[in-house]
Amino acid sequence: MADPLALPALHASHAGVWVRAGGGAAGQTRGVSKGEAIMAAADTPLLMLNAPLVANRLGYPDLSGLDLLELFAFVRPAEFCVPTPKGLADALAVDPATSDDDVPALLQRAAAALLRQCEAEDWPQREGAWSALQSLTRLRWPWSQVLAPYIKRPERAEKWLFAKLPEWEEAPDRPQPAQVQIAEAEVEGQLDHLTGTGAERREGQRAYAKSASKVFAPRDAQRRPHILLAQAGTGIGKTLGYLAPASLWASASRGTVWVSTFTKNLQRQLRGESARAWPERREDGTRPVVVRKGRENYLCLLNLEDAMQGGFGGRAAILAQMVARWAAYSRDGDMIGGDLPGWLGTLFRKRGIAALTDQRGECVYAGCPHYRKCFIERAARASAQADLVIANHALVMVNAARGRDAAQRPTRIVFDEGHHVFDAADSTFAAALTGQEAIELRRWIVGPERKSKGRRRGLAARLADVASYDEAGGEAVEAAIEAARHLPSDGWLGRINEGEPYGPLENLFSAVRALTFARDESGGQEAGYGIETEIADLPGQLIELAQQAASALSAIRHPLVKLGVRLEAVLEDAPDWLDGPGRARIEGARHSLGWRVDLLAAWEALLERLGGPADPEFVDWFAVDRSDAREFDIGIHRRWLDPMKPFAKVVLEPAHGVMLTSATLTDRTDEGADWEDAITRSGAPHIEVAPLTTAAESPFDYTARAEVLIVTDIKRGDLPALAGAYARFIEAAGGGVLGLFTAIRRLRAVYGRIADRLARSGLPLYAQHVDPIDTGTLVDIFRDDRTASLLGTDALRDGVDVPGESLRCVVLEGVPWPRPTILHRARRAAGGGSRHDDRIIRARLAQAFGRLIRGKDDKGHFIVLSPAFPSRLLSAFPPGTPITRLTLDEALQRVAQGVCRAGDNSNAQILNEVE
Ligand code: SF4
Repeated sequence: MADPLALPALHASHAGVWVRAGGGAAGQTRGVSKGEAIMAAADTPLLMLNAPLVANRLGYPDLSGLDLLELFAFVRPAEFCVPTPKGLADALAVDPATSDDDVPALLQRAAAALLRQCEAEDWPQREGAWSALQSLTRLRWPWSQVLAPYIKRPERAEKWLFAKLPEWEEAPDRPQPAQVQIAEAEVEGQLDHLTGTGAERREGQRAYAKSASKVFAPRDAQRRPHILLAQAGTGIGKTLGYLAPASLWASASRGTVWVSTFTKNLQRQLRGESARAWPERREDGTRPVVVRKGRENYLCLLNLEDAMQGGFGGRAAILAQMVARWAAYSRDGDMIGGDLPGWLGTLFRKRGIAALTDQRGECVYAGCPHYRKCFIERAARASAQADLVIANHALVMVNAARGRDAAQRPTRIVFDEGHHVFDAADSTFAAALTGQEAIELRRWIVGPERKSKGRRRGLAARLADVASYDEAGGEAVEAAIEAARHLPSDGWLGRINEGEPYGPLENLFSAVRALTFARDESGGQEAGYGIETEIADLPGQLIELAQQAASALSAIRHPLVKLGVRLEAVLEDAPDWLDGPGRARIEGARHSLGWRVDLLAAWEALLERLGGPADPEFVDWFAVDRSDAREFDIGIHRRWLDPMKPFAKVVLEPAHGVMLTSATLTDRTDEGADWEDAITRSGAPHIEVAPLTTAAESPFDYTARAEVLIVTDIKRGDLPALAGAYARFIEAAGGGVLGLFTAIRRLRAVYGRIADRLARSGLPLYAQHVDPIDTGTLVDIFRDDRTASLLGTDALRDGVDVPGESLRCVVLEGVPWPRPTILHRARRAAGGGSRHDDRIIRARLAQAFGRLIRGKDDKGHFIVLSPAFPSRLLSAFPPGTPITRLTLDEALQRVAQGVCRAGDNSNAQILNEVE
């Protein structure tokens, strides 16, 4: 039997590289050069933690070895571990490493612990391991030889995943909810029940809960929902505040409340807090609370089967086996933010996880052999029976716009993190005719071009039975396929770059690209990043190409419309062979056909506009998308000038009660909260509803626990000074710094200059867009290690919930001005010019500041590096927060001291005392 301690191990950080020979206690750990480490890894498989990260540290992308994370995913599927030496030691309850050079020994201990688990009689995830290992051995997974002696062959053959998963049950539709009125006293009683006996009585939360109950009252007029805008400062306890009336209403009316969030963090928190109001399961075994996500989040079992049967090769095939192992133990099959560790995908190839979900709407519904076990179908059914559905803004909007089942559309909705509703509506109701989008449509209609082992076979294969039964339907399928061959196909970008586009759409994209470059005004500043240009004064030739492209799209749309009519006819006058599942499949096909027809119509409208006057409701532009100087898409984009207009029509109008709540719903100007603007941005005026408003101030003591420092001596554009400032703040605070940037370019440059220096002082630095780790995992790493610091961009400004010691300081690289895009210019002109910009900046500052104080015991510094921070933006911070302009050295002193009000301010100007 292989002795795990006999396996040599490698650890690489920014501070150095260490290799430990095999041989247990007698093994020696020594510091080596990167070159030596690469040679050692090439000679023999080395234990390592997170191979892509080690490869990144060594600057050698082809590194491979025995990755402990892969072993963890195999031995403990559907369990989580922070992918750091400390996280691994915690998860396995082995002695942690005391320093970087102690990590290789830890890796050996961890490997031993995991292998020991495989031998244990009570290993909870034993079922399926032996069979999976046989497949992984055939795929030459590096761990399979090591693992083989530890995993006993089972006495009886193990069930194959697809036989093992439970089937969902069909249930009748819920009757429509009863019209009930909830008394305020009941709400207070329920709130007491949810907060628990002995909990401190919070008046702000009580008032908030009573206001929230108003959206559940019966509606007085058709298309006039109750709308409440509720601002609740951090720490009010808003989740339980709205769950109190929501749970009362759901129980009294037998209806469903949807709570929509923007971040996965809040979804997780809601899942936990809802357990106070509802049991895990009802007496009949169904779940009263369900988390529902977009279908692209869930594992598609048919795609997995395809991948395991040869659809995936190399490393991706190993990933498919790992995912199958996880699927057998997963709570709900959610691959993004569920119980599949976020790091698993990044250990393998980039698109592996996405290819296992149903990204392209290729689901064949009842035609799928796994339909009755499908995670997506299970989630949809469970949400139809739930009292509380926890979803996200995008899903709620997509469901309202094109949900399959009108009866399941949400009618009572709480949008938490309501300040994000505008952006979510902006993307949901956007239209984009780009090469990538067109290629997706082509694949959906035609199927893959080259010989594919997979099941993706396009429209003809999906509707083969209808096509052979109904002649007109068959002809429509043929015509659509023929017409779709004029859409771009694989290699389109290469052809455009070489000046050899093929077909009307590629011709158009080629002209769009040429014009975008011709009119690029960024002066090379944005080299490597996306560029765009407005749609104005277009050359005649481009307009002509747009017309040709529009005709090509219309030639696809017509047969698809016809096919939809034929499918309807088949359903109405059903042939004998059409059983229940067949009917469900055709209904599914008709539904997905419907939204492709709408998509094509939107694209045609976009092309029509190129030759005519602009529509003032929309903002249109051309863009070439690039990342690291590599072009990846070209296209025409359209956004609503005010996306809350379609939102109001599609989401608000059919609803009975909607609440938007957030800590930053209103803009805080010098004159106070700007409710007028918040009401305009809610969309309510578009349906002539005057929303109710309410506000509750945060109970936190910002005056004593937070301090805003505006550092005035770092010049804008001085990169060495910027990097130096970040390093010194991290050193002064001893880690625990969240660094926020508005440009990826600067983030990378700063990281590159300071990561090594900090690592040598025992202060690990992580960064979005640099480390090959997904954002959620980066935040987990940051939370788990009080010496770690994290650099990031937009997603971190609003999605980080790190209460306690781990986050002690937020550093902004400057004033977060909005990017001067074409869309921004149009909205700025419509929204009052610089007032519009100020509102955006104040909102960003308030959100970023919100990361700092998450609980009543938190404290810390919020730092902005800006020589010219306009005073009118200072109202972004909670009233009473001390704000000081000072030099870098003074700021460093204050950070090193920690937050204390007794500090010496003699050289600094305390703005809110002076002004
Ligand atoms: S029903 Fe659709 S989504 Fe579910 S497994 Fe089958 S093809 Fe995939």
